[in-house]
Amino acid sequence: MRLIGKNSAMVSRVIPVTPFDLVIFGATGDLARRKLLPALFRRMLDGQMPTNAKIIGVARRQMSRESFQDFVREALAEFEPEALAAPKVLKAFLAALDYLVVDVMGDAGWADLGQKLRPDVVRAFYLSVGPSLFGEIATRLNRHGIATPQSRIVVEKPLGHDLASAKALNAQLGACFDEQQIYRIDHYLGKETVQNLMAIRFANALFEPLWNSQHIDHVQITVAESIGVEGRGGYYDKSGALRDMVQNHMMQLLCLTAMEPPAKFNADFVRDEKLKVIRALEPLRVEETVRGQYRGGGGEGSYFDHVENPASKTESFVALKVEVENWRWAGVPFYLRTGKRLRARVSEIVVVFKKPPHAIFPEMATQGSNELVIRLQPDEGITLNMTIKEPGPGGMRLAQVPLDMSFAEALGEDFHGPDAYERLIMDVIRGDQTLFMRGDELEEAWRWVDPLVAAWAESSARPAGYDAGGSGPEDALALLHRDGRKWREIES
Ligand code: NAD
Repeated sequence: MRLIGKNSAMVSRVIPVTPFDLVIFGATGDLARRKLLPALFRRMLDGQMPTNAKIIGVARRQMSRESFQDFVREALAEFEPEALAAPKVLKAFLAALDYLVVDVMGDAGWADLGQKLRPDVVRAFYLSVGPSLFGEIATRLNRHGIATPQSRIVVEKPLGHDLASAKALNAQLGACFDEQQIYRIDHYLGKETVQNLMAIRFANALFEPLWNSQHIDHVQITVAESIGVEGRGGYYDKSGALRDMVQNHMMQLLCLTAMEPPAKFNADFVRDEKLKVIRALEPLRVEETVRGQYRGGGGEGSYFDHVENPASKTESFVALKVEVENWRWAGVPFYLRTGKRLRARVSEIVVVFKKPPHAIFPEMATQGSNELVIRLQPDEGITLNMTIKEPGPGGMRLAQVPLDMSFAEALGEDFHGPDAYERLIMDVIRGDQTLFMRGDELEEAWRWVDPLVAAWAESSARPAGYDAGGSGPEDALALLHRDGRKWREIES
C-alpha cells in the first residue's frame, strides 16, 4: 500500500544563492575530492550556483591552477560521472576554480589568498583538514585580515574527543569568529529524511498529538555499517563507536526525534530545543550499555587485524539505553546502537507506538505495534507500519502493511535529492545555521558522553565479541529483551 502516489507537483525549486568566494582548505584531500567538489558541481548543474561563484582550493601540494582543474575533473569523473555528460556546466565549473599553495602552519601565501577574495560577495572558509589545523587557520585568517565580520567558517568532525578538547576548540574558533559565523557540520543533518522528520512532526496535525510517553512505547535509533574499520584503524582505535558516531550523528537524530516544537524554524530556536534534550538526558548507567568488537568472518578479518594494539578495548559497536527525563518522554526508552561489520548498511529511526488499550481481535496479541520508520540510508524514506484486515474471505485475519512514503515512490524513480553536503554548503552561503551544531550543543553532548568513556576505561571488562555480518553482540539483544522488547532486524 502506498500513502502517496507519484506527485508531479513535487518538483525541485532551485533558487540560486548569492555570489560567493568559497575557500576550501585541504582541497586535495579525500573529503574535498569525494564529497565537497562533487557536491558543488551538482549545485551548479542544478542552477543553484551563481555563474560568478569562485571556489579557491588551498593545500600544501605544489600545483598550478590548471593542474588543480585537471585534478578536479578527474575527481568528478570518479565520483560524479554525470559531470562528463554535461560538458558546458563542467567547463563553467572548472572555470570557477582557483588554487593556491599555502602551508597553513606558516605565514606565507596568506596575502595572496586575501588578494584573490572579493570584498562584495559572501566569503566562506571550509576547513577540510585535520582538527589540529582548525585553530591555526582561524588565527591566520584573522591575523592576515582575511576573515571579515561577515565571513563564515565551516568545520567538521572530529570536533573534539572529550569535553575539554571541545571547549578548547570552541575557544580557538571563538577567539577569531562569532558563533553566528561558525558552521559545525554534521552531515546527518543535511540528509533529506532528517529534515523530513521535522516536516512530518511539525507540518502535520497527525503525529504530534501522539508524540509522547502516552502513545509511544520506545524509540530505536540504528546506524549500522557493513564495512569494518579497514584503512582507518589508526584513527578509529583512538576514537571508537561512541565518540565517532554516538556523540555527534546519533545524538543529533535523538535530539530531532525528541525535541519540543520550536516556535519558529530558525537556527537558534531549533538549536535551543535540541540543547534542552541533551540537558534532559539521564546520565548513562554502565549496566545499560553494551560495547562490542567484531570478530573475523567472510574473509574480512577481525577488528584486531586493523589496529596496532592487540589489547585494544576500543569498541566497534555500541548499544545504549537512553532516557530523556522530561515531561514528554519520562518512561520512554531510546535505544541506540551503531556498529561496524554488521549485516547491512542501514541508518534508521524507529518510533514504536503502544498497542491499542483493548484487543477486540484475538490476533492482536501477536501482532506488532504501529511503527514509524524513518530511514536515512540506503533508500531514504519514511514508512508507517499499520495493521489491517488481511484481504479475502476466511474471517478477521490481521496483517501488517507498510504505508510507504519513500521518496522514490512519491516523487518518481528519477528523483535525486541533494546530497547532504550540497544542501549544507548552500546553507553556509545562504547564512542559515539551522542544520549546524551550535558550540553549546557540542559541549553538552560531550559532557554526557565523557563519564561513559571514563567508566569503560576504568572497567576491566572487555568489549563483547560479535560475528561479522550479524546484528551485534548477544548483550545488545539482551538489553531490549529484558525490557520485553526487541530490535528491528538490520536489513537493507
Ligand atoms: P586528507 O588527509 O585526505 O586531506 C587533508 C588535506 O589537508 C590535504 O589536502 C592536505 O594537503 C591538507 N593539509 C594538511 N596539512 C596541511 C597544511 N599544513 N597546510 C595546508 N594544507 C594542509 O583528509 P580528509 O579525509 O580529506 O579529511 C579532512 C578532515 O575532514 C579531517 O578532519 C577528517 O577527519 C574530516 N572528515 C573527513 C571525511 C572523509 O570522508 N574523508 C568525513 C568526515 C570528516
